[in-house]
Amino acid sequence: ASKRNGRDRYAVFDPAMYADVLREARVRTELERAVAEEQFFVLYQPIVDMPSGRPTGVEALVRWRHPTDGVLGPDTFIPYAEESGLIVPLGRWVLRQACDQLAEWRRELPSARELHMSVNLSARQFQNPNLVEEVADAVSRSGIEPSCLVLEITETTLMRDSDVVLAALHGLRRLGVRVAVDDFGSGYSSLGYLKRFPVDILKIDRSFVQGEEDADAATLTEAVIGIGRALRLQTVAEGVETSAQWSTLRELGCDLGQGFYFARPSEADVIARLLAGDMPSVALLDAG
Ligand code: C2E
Ligand code: MG
Ligand code: MG
Ligand code: MG
Repeated sequence: ASKRNGRDRYAVFDPAMYADVLREARVRTELERAVAEEQFFVLYQPIVDMPSGRPTGVEALVRWRHPTDGVLGPDTFIPYAEESGLIVPLGRWVLRQACDQLAEWRRELPSARELHMSVNLSARQFQNPNLVEEVADAVSRSGIEPSCLVLEITETTLMRDSDVVLAALHGLRRLGVRVAVDDFGSGYSSLGYLKRFPVDILKIDRSFVQGEEDADAATLTEAVIGIGRALRLQTVAEGVETSAQWSTLRELGCDLGQGFYFARPSEADVIARLLAGDMPSVALLDAG
C-alpha cells in the first residue's frame, strides 16, 4: 500500500506540471520587468481596400523582444499580461506608440493622409476605469483625429461583463474613435449584441475566410457580409492568404481585407515604403 501511495504522491509532483508552474512564474516576473524596461515593439499590418488592394489602414500588433528567447508573439505572453493586469500599462504603451506612429505617417507621407490605425484592446483593459481617459490622452498628445483610430475588441470581450464594456464603448464613441469587433463569428455572441453595442466594423474571423473549399464557411462569410451591410457596418476579412480568397471576397462585397496575401505585419519603416509606393504589395503587383 505504501508503494502505491508513493506512486500517487509522485503523480502530484508531476515534473512536467512543475515545469509549467515554474515557467509561468518566470514569464510573469520577466513580463513585469519587460513592461518597466519597454522591451516591446509594434509591427503594423496593412488593411486594404478590397477593390483596389490599397492600404487604408494598419493594425498595430505587439511583439516582445525577450532578452534571451528572441522575439515572442502576443499569443505567448498576452494571456499572462491579462492575468496579472500588466496588460493595462502594456496596452497604454502600445496605444501611444500606435497613435504617435500614425501621426508621423500622416504628417510625412502624402499617401497616408487618410490612413487609419487599429489597436487591439483586451477584456482586462475594460476593467480599467481610466480606459476612456487614457485613449483620449493618447489621441490628443499625438495630435491625430479621433476618427482615424479604431479599437478592436473581440466578441468574447463584448459578452463578458457587458455593462462595463457598454459604458466604456459609449465613452469611446463620444470621443469619436471607432470600434471593431475582432474575430467576429469565432465566439458565441448573439446578433442582438450588435444592436446593443455601438460598433462600427466587423472583422470576419479568418477561419471563415480561409475555408474556401468548405461550402459552410463560404456561406457564413457571405452571411456576415450581409449582416454588416444590413447594419451599416464596415466589413473586414481577416487572414486573406491567396488571390482566390481576395477575388471571392471582393465579389461578395467585403469592404476591406487583411492578410499575408497583401502584407505581413511589418516594421514601421517597411510600412512607410509600402505607403510611399516604393514597395508595392503582392496584391498590387497582381492587380497590375
Ligand atoms: P488579431 O487582433 O486577430 O490579429 C490578427 C492576427 O492574425 C495577427 O497575429 C496577425 O499576424 C495574424 N494574421 C494576419 N494575417 C494573417 C494571414 O493571412 N494568415 C494567418 N495565419 N495569420 C494572419 P499576431 O500578431 O500573432 O497577434 C495575435 C493576437 O494577439 C491578435 O489577434 C490580438 O488578439 C492579440 N494582440 C496583438 N497585439 C496586441 C496588443 O497590442 N494588445 C492586445 N490586447 N492584444 C494584442
Ligand atoms: Mg485585431
Ligand atoms: Mg482578429
Ligand atoms: Mg485573433
